[in-house]
Amino acid sequence: MVERKIINIVYNDAKTSVDTASYLKTKLIQLGFEIAVDFSYDAELIICIGGDGSFLGALHKYNFPDIPIIGINTGHLGFFAEVNPDEIDSFLEKYVSGDYFIEELSPIEATICTRNNCIEARGINEIVIKGDKSRTIHMTISVNNHLIQKFSGDGILVATSTGSTAYNYSVGGSLVDPKLNIVQVTPLAPINTNAYRSFTSSVIFPTETIIKVNPEYRFENSIVLVSDGVEHRYAGITEVSLQLSELKVKMLRLKDFNFWSKVIQKFL
Ligand code: NAP
Repeated sequence: MVERKIINIVYNDAKTSVDTASYLKTKLIQLGFEIAVDFSYDAELIICIGGDGSFLGALHKYNFPDIPIIGINTGHLGFFAEVNPDEIDSFLEKYVSGDYFIEELSPIEATICTRNNCIEARGINEIVIKGDKSRTIHMTISVNNHLIQKFSGDGILVATSTGSTAYNYSVGGSLVDPKLNIVQVTPLAPINTNAYRSFTSSVIFPTETIIKVNPEYRFENSIVLVSDGVEHRYAGITEVSLQLSELKVKMLRLKDFNFWSKVIQKFL
């Protein structure tokens, strides 16, 4: 039986993305690949065309599939993307000859418990817990069941190493080399006065750390969770428990990939 080599191509509706997808499909079919009509969980690769927003959207839409993924950047920044549209031919040559490696990235997972039930949320960049309607949020933060502090401010951002270059960086968090699989908690506008004491720098924890947040309500339902830019509101949240996921996002990296070159190219 001939082995089916299925590829998922996911793209946004920008003209450059549609044109890039069309070129890519033609090339892949010439190389003997089959392009999934609908998303296939049996595919050997996902190629995501767009910017980081499209990449994040694809991961969430298909529930963090256990399939290697690579991005082609037709968006703004494209930090996740590895290939530009004019590099498709050389990318395919490298892919077919196995000139790549898989980098496993750990998402952050939150178990959000309300008075009635618990719900899961996941982010490859970060999960933000913040005050709704511009209110100050007050919450206790525990690390591995040790109370660390009572935090007051706009909220906290819990980032993965992958997300260190995203929102985390804009709010003063540290850039993290992806070889370190850590959790970074960065405060958002912490209040540090005689009335309230909150940590003012980001704090970095090892891989297996469990961070628990218990909101103290002064206004009912006054917190909101944001995972990779998508807001979640649940009534009466009593506890949010966060830790790195055991599930991995399998980034397909070309052999010459270098994280710090990318930081220089995109940020400096
Ligand atoms: P968005 O407009 O989709 O993204 C905001 C910017 O963040 C875009 O330029 C995006 O790149 C870039 N980005 C996303 N992930 C990145 C990463 N891992 N490293 C470096 N840059 C990254 O915003 P959204 O839909 O609200 O949220 C999506 C993500 O954007 C969130 O996960 C969050 O990390 C980030 N964000 C940043 C800020 C901020 O910096 N103030 C505020 C909100 C959200 P593209 O241009 O290629 O899409």
